[in-house]
Amino acid sequence: MILFALILLTTPPVICIDPGHPSEVGPGTRGKKITEIQAAWKVGLALRTQLEQRGYRVVMTKGKPLEKVTNKLRAEIANAARATLMLRLHCDYAPGETGCGTFIATQQGTDGKFRGPSPGVLSEVGKLGPLFHAAMSAELKGFLRDRGQHPDSQSAVGSKHGALIGSIHCKMPSILVEMCVLNSAGDEAFITGKKGQAIMVKALAAGVQATIPLRGKLPQIDGDKVGKKSGDIIGGGKRGR
Ligand SMILES: [Zn+2]
Repeated sequence: MILFALILLTTPPVICIDPGHPSEVGPGTRGKKITEIQAAWKVGLALRTQLEQRGYRVVMTKGKPLEKVTNKLRAEIANAARATLMLRLHCDYAPGETGCGTFIATQQGTDGKFRGPSPGVLSEVGKLGPLFHAAMSAELKGFLRDRGQHPDSQSAVGSKHGALIGSIHCKMPSILVEMCVLNSAGDEAFITGKKGQAIMVKALAAGVQATIPLRGKLPQIDGDKVGKKSGDIIGGGKRGR
């Protein structure tokens, strides 16, 4: 019993990284040099490494960049992994805009007859969202403009359903990050470059750490083993669904 409690206390939380698109919504936007899919994939993979190095377990919603996964299934992958936080990586198309913004559910939405997220998840994301945004934007200061945090019902899909489909089906807080605006030349140069990607990864990891602190001191675990085991990609190519 004591051993079981110890294992629970020392088991690192699972973060679900969801590199957006392609989904039922489409392939996403693109800049002149990079697509939204490429940017989210590159940042997502590097973020997985960074979070694992910091002691988290990570689950990805895709096994390869062009794998099509519906937004409902993305949420179900996070639910099945019992993730503590789902982080959804996107880039925006917004004429006249620049910078990085975050979106969270602030009310329940509906997908067919299904209503979600639960009031408990809504209240949790209402607390965690601002913590995440503050820590992330502190790291991005001087590099990318802060577009603030917004209700996901303000997005194109969210306005039709009351919340984003990914949020509706999530049993844990889900934060969608529009990392930059790809139709802005400056933003595109930032996210295309290695330096910009590294700054973005560090900012996202800082957001995760401010939101989901690692409990206590973790036991020394071999990094490679953790990487292979926790980095298993659920929903990847050959798994049937
Ligand atoms: Zn997108």
